[in-house]
Amino acid sequence: MGYISTRGGIEPVSFSDAVMMGLATDGGLILPQEIPKIEPSTLNRWRGLSYPELAFEVMRLFVDDIPHDHLRALVERSYSTFQHPKVVPLVKVGDVWVMELFHGPTLAFKDIALQFLGNLFEYLLDRRDTTMNILGATSGDTGSAAIYGVKGKKRMSIFILHPHRRVSPVQEMQMTTVEDPNVFNLAIEGTFDHCQEIVKTIFNDLEFKERFSLGAVNSINWARVLAQVVYYIWGYLRLSDDGAEAVEFTVPTGNFGNIFAGVVAKRMLPEGAINRFVLATNENDILYRFISRGDYSLGKVVPTISPSMDIQIASNFERYLYYLWNQDPKKVREAFEGFKATGKMSFSQEELKRVAEDFASMAVSQEETIETIGSIYRKTGYIVDLHTAVGIKAGVDLRSSFPMICLATAHPCKFPEAVVKATGVEPQRPPAIKSLEGKKRRVTVLPYDVEKVKEFISAHAT
Ligand SMILES: *Cc1c(COP(=O)(O)O)cnc(C)c1O
Repeated sequence: MGYISTRGGIEPVSFSDAVMMGLATDGGLILPQEIPKIEPSTLNRWRGLSYPELAFEVMRLFVDDIPHDHLRALVERSYSTFQHPKVVPLVKVGDVWVMELFHGPTLAFKDIALQFLGNLFEYLLDRRDTTMNILGATSGDTGSAAIYGVKGKKRMSIFILHPHRRVSPVQEMQMTTVEDPNVFNLAIEGTFDHCQEIVKTIFNDLEFKERFSLGAVNSINWARVLAQVVYYIWGYLRLSDDGAEAVEFTVPTGNFGNIFAGVVAKRMLPEGAINRFVLATNENDILYRFISRGDYSLGKVVPTISPSMDIQIASNFERYLYYLWNQDPKKVREAFEGFKATGKMSFSQEELKRVAEDFASMAVSQEETIETIGSIYRKTGYIVDLHTAVGIKAGVDLRSSFPMICLATAHPCKFPEAVVKATGVEPQRPPAIKSLEGKKRRVTVLPYDVEKVKEFISAHAT
């Protein structure tokens, strides 16, 4: 299986090269040349598998250059850090299913991809006898999940910038109590945008980037998408065990990474197994406007109570457009050049009709989100987090006759204030989080100054 770019500017590369490349060198996103189809007989054989076993079976269809026993070991190690015996349990809540993706070390669904990516990077760096320094900015979830993916790994260090005193207390605690010497937390005196700006500037200094082998773990890496494909197939299998012929998923969406993995799973499964997706956004609604009326035009990012979805440019969306435009890289290239110049893209009626076969969509307000958490709690006693609530609200409103699986992307204790406001009760902190309370913090506060950050990296890089 070779990997290509949505913009057509690279020769096919192997899985390992695709992972190490991250973003394609022509500025496009990497995709497999072909998405494998799963036969119904294979699917039946997969029913009895545990989550890690299923992950191995799905991933090996896409991995052409890692021996199977090595891949199996990488996958097993990645999910051994999850606190739930099923790794990804499904829970019936009212008349929908909630798929809990938050039992990893940082209590967010990003652990599912980043635990795997950390192990995979370590393995590939070892094979290539080289090193890497990961650099990233975070407003919360991605940074902590990346740190827990990389901590204690050989041949790698990680530098994560977060805005000083502007991430949630649980996230701050998760990041800064990590003791491994290859983890560096930099609290920047500024906002998340300032942090991102610093990271961008440093990545643009090609000499510096080369010298320290800087790498990224952002959501455009193909290995992240691949790890996420697994739980859509898992969710379908669990409900079809119970006799469901087809399912739907509702996905709280920011960067389109999570839901794009669902699109890949839909193409792998037999026709009709996944009926369609509900794409739920908060008030940052560019994807909702696209699906509901073909309006893909840049708005301003508004900060909300579900911050991991406060995004206007959804980087993984390019992967979906590549398929919508019948795998025509020229069309993708021209559309993104146009988007850069004008801040919008347009679509034909025929294209929008095909989009409507894949997705329904809703933009959920902050009041509706809080109301949803409250009403689920009063009806069932179950507490959901803010991001999950956005998905559930849209999923319940837009569901058809098929069973609806709601992706729970974070544990409710990550943003307790909103939960208290909605339900009157404080969400329980799991033991893994409680054990961090009172631990020593490792963090360096730096001013909003690129040079200071570069000096720090130079002094501490692997
Ligand atoms: C990152 C994140 C999302 C958005 O996922 P995308 O892949 O960016 O669409 C939703 N909820 C939570 C809790 C997240 O951390």
